[in-house]
Amino acid sequence: MGPGPDELVREEIRRVTAYHVPPAQGMVKLDAMENPYRLPPELAREMGARLAEVAINRYPDPSGELLKRRLRETMRIDASLELLLGNGSDEILQIISLALAKPGATVLSVEPSFVVYRLAATAAGMRYASVSLREDFSLDAPALLRAIERERPALTWIAYPNNPTGNLFPREAILEAVRASAGLVAVDEAYYAFSGGASMLDDVGRHPNLIVVRTVSKLGLAGLRLGVAIAPPGWIHELDKLRMPYNVNVLTAAAADFLLERHDVFDRQTAAIVAERARLEAVLDGMERVTRFPSAANFVLVRVPDGPGAFEALRQRGILVRTFHGSHPLLAHCLRLTVGTPDENTRMLDALAAALG
Ligand code: PMP
Repeated sequence: MGPGPDELVREEIRRVTAYHVPPAQGMVKLDAMENPYRLPPELAREMGARLAEVAINRYPDPSGELLKRRLRETMRIDASLELLLGNGSDEILQIISLALAKPGATVLSVEPSFVVYRLAATAAGMRYASVSLREDFSLDAPALLRAIERERPALTWIAYPNNPTGNLFPREAILEAVRASAGLVAVDEAYYAFSGGASMLDDVGRHPNLIVVRTVSKLGLAGLRLGVAIAPPGWIHELDKLRMPYNVNVLTAAAADFLLERHDVFDRQTAAIVAERARLEAVLDGMERVTRFPSAANFVLVRVPDGPGAFEALRQRGILVRTFHGSHPLLAHCLRLTVGTPDENTRMLDALAAALG
């Protein structure tokens, strides 16, 4: 046999378990924190007409200026800050990791949190270190500060709110980590739309080593793949060199520009999701065998007596949620339930009640 992947691919990549997306055809899909609502038909038609005019024979505008202007407006981004556009915020995580991957550099995160922080660190050839959350998934702020001192991370990731736990860590504890760190602290606000306005965006620019990452995915545009990093211009100037020139395609740029101008549609949808989250929480709290964790996101984490069993029972009834049992000791028997439409949530809750007996 000639040289193949076993010999040629980097050892640490061969050890990685690929990010797994299970098949969901025909299922009630409550596993990926998607907004369950489609666009109103009239708006979808209007968007179609707009997209028909897009010159798909041409490469995208490499600067993305028009779209950046729209994002600035929608997210109320201060004029002193700059934006980096990504093919989803996943790509932003990758770009930031690559930029900071000096030989021997370390990435720090809390655990359990979003697994792509580790994946992106590994892909960039960086060391990865983590600080465990407490058993109730609250942030152990002293432990985080000790880890920053011990590991000297070039990059620290904080998801705010956190995934898969759903909670918000205290803002002051994050700022303390920013002040204590000689590296960059990246605050990932993927679930901002559901957080009741909790954000570190106002702190960007006040600290030279703080950057905020956002996405339009959870808002209702997951299929477009568009994320953004917001930072002082010096950071974006460097990070932009690692962005492939045409990473945001013309259809995504045109659709996002069109839809973000009409963001009241998504504001209404996210308000409906937040209201449903409250209903879901109340029903879950009434279930004797369910421990429910607080959420500022569009999902709710629960612990049940038999996580894998409940996951399978839901699947049998055509409902796909996410099981975390086995992925981290603190997540034993935990399920993450994405908030769907009222009807989907009712079906999920009925199935869960039946599974728990
Ligand atoms: N950050 C967090 C915390 C997430 O949970 C996710 C999606 N699961 C992302 C980033 C990536 O989102 P996207 O690439 O769709 O912008």
